[in-house]
Amino acid sequence: MHNFTTIHDVAIKGKILFIRCDMNVPLKDGNISDISRIVSSLETINYALEQDAKIIIATHLGRPKEGTVTDKDSVAPIIQVLEQHLKRKIPLITNLDQKINFDSDQIVMLENVRCNIGEQANDDKLGQKYAKLCDIFVHDAFATAHRAESSTDAIGRYVDVVCAGILMARELKVLNEVTTSAKAPVTAIIGGSKVSTKLQVLHNLLAKVDTLILGGGILNTFILAKGYNVGSSLVEEDLINDAEQILNKAHELGVNIPLPSSVKVATEFSESAKAKLRDIGEIKSDEMILDISDEFADELAKIVVQSNTIIWNGPAGVFELPAFMSGTQIIAEAIGDCAGYTVAGGGDTIAAINKFKLTDKIDYISTAGGAMIEFLEGKELPGIKLLETYANK
Ligand code: AMP
Repeated sequence: MHNFTTIHDVAIKGKILFIRCDMNVPLKDGNISDISRIVSSLETINYALEQDAKIIIATHLGRPKEGTVTDKDSVAPIIQVLEQHLKRKIPLITNLDQKINFDSDQIVMLENVRCNIGEQANDDKLGQKYAKLCDIFVHDAFATAHRAESSTDAIGRYVDVVCAGILMARELKVLNEVTTSAKAPVTAIIGGSKVSTKLQVLHNLLAKVDTLILGGGILNTFILAKGYNVGSSLVEEDLINDAEQILNKAHELGVNIPLPSSVKVATEFSESAKAKLRDIGEIKSDEMILDISDEFADELAKIVVQSNTIIWNGPAGVFELPAFMSGTQIIAEAIGDCAGYTVAGGGDTIAAINKFKLTDKIDYISTAGGAMIEFLEGKELPGIKLLETYANK
């Protein structure tokens, strides 16, 4: 069990808290299309408000260029949502060198931390700057716990008190229970666009699961590695060797990685694109695989419902487009029907769960995708290491 201090263990009245949240919400034309990540962060903020602490909220948003803040990088739309929920004004802080004045406001928000030079490189000086603003660092960004950046890691070296926020503590407690009591057969479902972002995860999961179901662009790379033509699908040709290694290792370990005999393709990536069913050996050069076939999804659904533990991150296809959502929907509904323990997480996965109205049918929905999977595969996450280092001081 991980040992860490939580915000409930610390005297915070009158103190200045730097609460690092993950409010990295999806934006479409400047509007937030899903506020789940903001809502999940409110519990800690409300607790700190009730306890009369002074609060600095910090988050990253998107992947901006460090050193500039363009309109689309700003956290201003997040502030609007927070102001509605918290029913108070929240000034935006753009200058980290000035002491923050809390005389008239109990809560302020920093501009997108990823716009600060050195943030992603976990620059110590930037960490010191954040630390100077506050008395206590509250890490509540579980979804970013697999990364060490200045506002999630370096800051912790320069403050006297480091603790986990309420969301972080809950994520760690529940996911810890999953790792210690996962019952076989275990099925992991890993979809999404790219193998490269989840390559290590795929390798590591092989030792933990009975079945590894692949979906999305990740699956395309494996289909290519098996020697099939994938036309103009999203693939990473440079990772074919890695895909082969994963398939071989799975074979040695007796892990089942089901591969489809048919898929859904289109010649364009658009709302109006029509799906064509194709046998796996017959994909034409101008066609893209955008979903698995319903027949294959039904086969996967049978494996899913018979599992005792399910871990799910990433869609099976381009579920945002109506013609290519059924693969993800069939699997998601099977997860909902599974009597075993089911855990899902990640931005797109949560969006799919909401779309198919399955929120109440999944045992635990984590705010994190990458961090959740890395935690479940047994990796030490920098965010958790920081909390433990402080707790063992
Ligand atoms: P990720 O951010 O890596 O989890 O990827 C999620 C995204 O992958 C979603 O927006 C899906 O639309 C997209 N995706 C899923 N399947 C495919 C596919 N076959 N080709 C291209 N994109 C896909």
